[in-house]
Amino acid sequence: MKISEILESKKTLLSFEVFPPKQQANFESTVKTAKELCALSPDFMSVTYGAGGTTRENTVEISAQILSFGTPALAHLTCVGNSLDSIKSTVSEMKKNGIENILALRGDIPQGLPVPLDKDLEHADILVKILKQEGFCVGGACYPEGHPESQNRQDDIENLKYKIDAGVDFLTTQMFFDNNMLYSYLYQIQSKGIHVPVFAGIMPITNSSQVSRMVKLSSAYIPAKLLSICDRFSESPEAMRQAGIAYATDQIIDLISNGIRGIHIYTMNKPSVAQEIYRNVNSIISAINS
Ligand code: FAD
Repeated sequence: MKISEILESKKTLLSFEVFPPKQQANFESTVKTAKELCALSPDFMSVTYGAGGTTRENTVEISAQILSFGTPALAHLTCVGNSLDSIKSTVSEMKKNGIENILALRGDIPQGLPVPLDKDLEHADILVKILKQEGFCVGGACYPEGHPESQNRQDDIENLKYKIDAGVDFLTTQMFFDNNMLYSYLYQIQSKGIHVPVFAGIMPITNSSQVSRMVKLSSAYIPAKLLSICDRFSESPEAMRQAGIAYATDQIIDLISNGIRGIHIYTMNKPSVAQEIYRNVNSIISAINS
């Protein structure tokens, strides 16, 4: 099922992200993770595409497994590591496997690796255009705190319009830990005429060392409240896990109360964390959609 169709029938959607294994030996354990997450009946599950196309086949195969568990799948696809020809063959593979939704990304340019960016695929908007022509429901990424390569947030929003003009059906945000960042961003994009549904990307912080990694990865602002949690519970893994789940739950409840169209949880392939968050917000999401 296309995510655009699900969006028509529900006020707020819930989705989970998994990443495919880099090593084939871990394939079955990733399928098990995906199955456990599908058992929570999310509206869809997304499957990332390894930097530089390193997990191409597994992204398609895990997405196909998710479909076989009765859950709509959103396969990620990047420009980095691809040419127009390889995009064509991946797209045909995805179609053969019944995949109807793709998150179109440029991808991060791996440092020091010889992965050239094809001249015809310099930005995600080009990929969006190709995938829309192929009949897919297509999502794009957006950055409430601005993309790290952009001079400022305004420039990034101007560039976001290319993806919108190319026909993107929805956007999923980079992780953020301060909901006010998202609210001010939504206000700004709407004032620029961008009205597609936005999924809020939520990353539960369940161990304190994750914070520095996440800041490096996303340049996200870490509010004092989350810093204090990490500081206070860095030596107590169980307490840190519980406090991190509570923090993410709090963010989600606030977002739902403020009318966000979708919550997308970066599960880091940890079903137990997603299960606890799901238990915390399930009735709230059901009430919104009833
Ligand atoms: P783009 O939209 O191309 O934007 C990149 C930069 O170029 C931005 O600064 C933007 O302002 C600017 N720009 C955009 N369009 C134009 C244009 N037409 N002309 C000039 N400038 C332009 N990476 C992976 O490798 N695999 C994944 O599975 C993956 N999943 C992700 C999921 C989400 C929800 C998010 C938020 C990110 C994900 N990423 C993934 C990371 C993503 O690939 C990187 O953040 C990458 O640096 C940018 O990708 P993009 O699609 O936003 O690129």
